[in-house]
Amino acid sequence: MNKYAVIGNPVHHSISPMIHGQFSKEFGLEISYEKILSPINGFQDTVKKFIDSNGQGFNITLPFKIQAHNLSKSLTPNAKAAGAVNAIKIKDNTLIGENTDGNGLVNDFTNNLNQSLKGKEILIIGAGGATQGILKPILDCNPEKILLANRTKEKSLKLASKFLKYGKVCGFGLDQIKAKPVDIVINATSASIDGNIPNIPNGVVEGALCYDLMYGRETPFMKWANENSARKVSDGLGMLVEQAALSFSFWLEKNPQTKPVIELVRAKGD
Ligand code: NAP
Repeated sequence: MNKYAVIGNPVHHSISPMIHGQFSKEFGLEISYEKILSPINGFQDTVKKFIDSNGQGFNITLPFKIQAHNLSKSLTPNAKAAGAVNAIKIKDNTLIGENTDGNGLVNDFTNNLNQSLKGKEILIIGAGGATQGILKPILDCNPEKILLANRTKEKSLKLASKFLKYGKVCGFGLDQIKAKPVDIVINATSASIDGNIPNIPNGVVEGALCYDLMYGRETPFMKWANENSARKVSDGLGMLVEQAALSFSFWLEKNPQTKPVIELVRAKGD
């Protein structure tokens, strides 16, 4: 039986086993997909044990995506640009690193939300690991420009200059966001986890599609965007399922359907 996993700390909340279980059912495949809690200082050992147990591939979640990048023997273009890896394929005992987060987000926009990114002005709030993963795939869709705002301004300036070679991206501090509407606002901060909203002006979300990378319920950002006349509001569940589908096809060269799985997870209320 093919053996896969997600490695993180914490990892108990992950619904990836359920998602990959649904994907494999579609193709009549029997795979195992487990959650592995790695000690914070023991990622490399955890990976070694998994390889020794005949594992074929794994996803990586917080806080190990950069270590996974550094551990990979070869990298796909997306993983190289992101400097972070969320999916690894084990081939001939060698680790191949991929980052499916960004294309997962793009697929959610285009396939599930029917929202093209081409020619759009996009404000991304946050300059952490998730933003590193989504910048190149979004820029590959030829938006008009990306405005990249972060609480710690130096981080958005640094990321913007790193990704400038892929398209128009401009970095600045949260306090410099103008109260002028844009087409799309993506909350890529972790503020929602603590029940907070990034401190940004109301006017920017008016008429915009507002997307919170966090998923599972109406986040404070989504509630605030709805109250401030956003055109459409979404959480990041579609991205989660789409990035899982891209991981599945990276490992098994099969493209699973995502819509039924998104609907199933919503119906279960996970
Ligand atoms: P991270 O590397 O820890 O970065 C956190 C970012 O949030 C930083 O830019 C930080 O700003 C900012 N931030 C935190 N609290 C804030 C606040 N109260 N106000 C303003 N900014 C704040 O985290 P990450 O890996 O990028 O993850 C970000 C989010 O994306 C998490 O909610 C994660 O669950 C989600 N995510 C979802 C998916 C999916 O499939 N849907 C995939 C990946 C990640 P400073 O730099 O100033 O500290």
